[in-house]
Amino acid sequence: MTIKELTRKIEDFAPLLLQESYDNAGLIVGDPDTEIKGVLIALDVTEEVIQEAIGKSCNLIVAHHPLIFKGIKKLNNRNPVERMIFSSIKNNIALYAAHTNLDNVLQGVNATIAEKLGLINTSILSPVNGVLKKLVTFCPLDQAGKVRDAIFEAGAGHIGNYDSCSFNIDGEGTFRATEGASPFVGELNKLHREKEIRIETVFPSYLKNKIVSAMLHAHPYEEVAYDIYPIDNQFAGAGAGMIGDLQSPENAQDFLLRIKKVFNTGCVRHTKICSENVSKVALCGGSGSFLIHNAIALGADVFITGDVKYHEFFDADNKIIIADVGHYESEQYTKELLMNIIKKKKSTFAVRISEINTNPISYL
Ligand SMILES: [Zn+2]
Repeated sequence: MTIKELTRKIEDFAPLLLQESYDNAGLIVGDPDTEIKGVLIALDVTEEVIQEAIGKSCNLIVAHHPLIFKGIKKLNNRNPVERMIFSSIKNNIALYAAHTNLDNVLQGVNATIAEKLGLINTSILSPVNGVLKKLVTFCPLDQAGKVRDAIFEAGAGHIGNYDSCSFNIDGEGTFRATEGASPFVGELNKLHREKEIRIETVFPSYLKNKIVSAMLHAHPYEEVAYDIYPIDNQFAGAGAGMIGDLQSPENAQDFLLRIKKVFNTGCVRHTKICSENVSKVALCGGSGSFLIHNAIALGADVFITGDVKYHEFFDADNKIIIADVGHYESEQYTKELLMNIIKKKKSTFAVRISEINTNPISYL
């Protein structure tokens, strides 16, 4: 299997279009046509991880955090990032990152954390905007079912827990086939009127190519009339953070001690325990303090994340318990998640999780 074939699989799960604007997910170093010998999964690319990949004959490192974030103007082997780019190229090791796209996808980083905590009734804490589009097409009456099935099959028409959602209106289409056309109905050079159905449905934009090509394939017309509109609706199928319920309320102090174990962290930094019990839990792997207000607005009793700054702790305002378990610790299960995504694809190469703890922070 080539790198390209594997990364396509990862991106089917976590589309690059879902990454944040500041991010740099995708293949960062390497030729996509290279045959994979072995894959090493890590949270971060470090010099030790590259050495581990060399030692384990892995020529692809799949990491959560991208090694390169900003533009690089010189490569002089002078700082850790430059040294790692040098050594990965010299040793034919490709570097791939699935970062905020993997955070934002419904079954991604945060769903994995929610599962470790045993949360139920989970949903995205801050759903994305601008991802949904509307597709409208016009189709002869007796062909509409086939076209609808094809676009649903390709992923259109999902709203919450419903699939196959569409709206259909009868109407009349007109067209005149001119020289060179071979019309499905009507005659050359004659104005034709056809009873048609206007089918409208929604889809997330990262499925556009798949859905349009399924529609064109199923539609009987030589020239298919269709419109794609941007819409402003939130898309509950992707976004930042997650919120869910504990199976039964837990004593707040005991819960904090439990998450200390679940995340195997040296320290849980938390705000005042402002409620005796907790039952609604919001979380965001990595640096999630931008979601504190969303967590409060949705009635979470506790918000678990990493990288919370001193002043941000004040935002708890006695309404929520903010619990900072550490950036690395909050995202550690992402390695398992990447392993499961990659293992779904039958492969002839070995897939290993790095044995190196890349957390740069120690607790004394
Ligand atoms: Zn992170």
